[in-house]
Amino acid sequence: MKYFHRSRSIGRREFIKSGALAGIGIGLVLADPASASVSHAPQVRRYSPLGRTGMHISDISFGADRLSLGEEDLVHHALDRGINYFDTADDYRGGESETTLGKALRGKRNNVFIASKSSAWPETKKDAMMQALEGSLRRLQTDHVDVYFNHAVNDINRLKNPEWYEFAETAKKQGKVRFTGMSGHAGNLVQCLDYAIDSGNFNVILCAYNFGQDPRFYQRYLSDFDWVARQPDLPRVIDKAKSRGMGVVVMKTLMGARLNDMRPYERGGATFSQAAFGWVLSNHHVDGLIVSMTTTEAIDEYLGASGSRTADEETLPLLRRYAHMHGTSYCKHACNVCEGACPADVAIADVMRTRMYAVDYGDLRMAREGYSAIARNAEACLTCTAKPCAGACPHGLRIADLTVPTHRLLSA
Ligand code: SF4
Ligand code: SF4
Repeated sequence: MKYFHRSRSIGRREFIKSGALAGIGIGLVLADPASASVSHAPQVRRYSPLGRTGMHISDISFGADRLSLGEEDLVHHALDRGINYFDTADDYRGGESETTLGKALRGKRNNVFIASKSSAWPETKKDAMMQALEGSLRRLQTDHVDVYFNHAVNDINRLKNPEWYEFAETAKKQGKVRFTGMSGHAGNLVQCLDYAIDSGNFNVILCAYNFGQDPRFYQRYLSDFDWVARQPDLPRVIDKAKSRGMGVVVMKTLMGARLNDMRPYERGGATFSQAAFGWVLSNHHVDGLIVSMTTTEAIDEYLGASGSRTADEETLPLLRRYAHMHGTSYCKHACNVCEGACPADVAIADVMRTRMYAVDYGDLRMAREGYSAIARNAEACLTCTAKPCAGACPHGLRIADLTVPTHRLLSA
């Protein structure tokens, strides 16, 4: 697999100034300090302060949502490349993700930052939250996580549960959690982020964010697109989080990650993923992104975009082509305009997200696990006329045509 490797080498002075040595200290061999050069292997080229946490994280970081048992080598490869922030959750791969990270990071814990998550619901008690955290710590073989997220929040009532805040305070006092955050990528995302930020009780946000959700992408191509991004408020809440000193990490940056579709159009410059990352990181209020790292080749390709802070004009046509190809099948996480159209209250955006895992990522296991967690799945679509939701998506998604096969595939 080819990858675009930016030619500028990071200098020793810049590297130290970035705070990277405090955060990683692994794998980057400064063979000749006098020449201020480093290995030619792809590597992390920028470490960003994560809000006011004092942490400096690799701008392109390890999403461990698809990490399975026995894949420690992937983690070691990422470490060798300078990645120092690892994002997992208690339910990724049924706990295998945390277990594998724990094994891979043994002896290296002080050189990395670990973020994990658990879903606290409106009725979840703090004792159950603590049990979930302690389970994560056991699997991760550590006594603390650096960031602990309330996972995949799509209902503001989950943020109004006072038990979460009592749990978080206790966990921090006991040294089990350094900082807390809210993660989200589905319904009511902007509303939940606004609430979390305004509460002043979280240090970090983790949210879906990509060129397909940002109106600034489409402004360049108004003559080409007859639809606009439906997340006009997402850049605003990201800016607000940053203005409050919070850390901002983003995910779902590849708008479905159909990387192979774009290979024929990559002509020796940046790959599609690098172009998409460049777009995301051009928002200077984004501290870093996480992406599922499933092969060493993919890690090297992704790191070709590390250090980027501009959306390169030359790469924009790739993004435009991708948006044209997939704009009418890709559900823009959390846009939720269709909410309320369904009399059966199907969680359409959640169903679409698991469809993305299955069809775009090609990861049936992840898709089935995600689908089984949806309380209002698409079973009702099987016997529905589909009239209520017809035309409910302003992006042209034919909702029932997507939800029915998704249910058949993922409920089997
Ligand atoms: S189906 Fe359409 S309207 Fe509904 S969440 Fe997805 S993109 Fe938005
Ligand atoms: S097909 Fe029917 S049940 Fe399914 S989302 Fe549309 S309106 Fe709801």
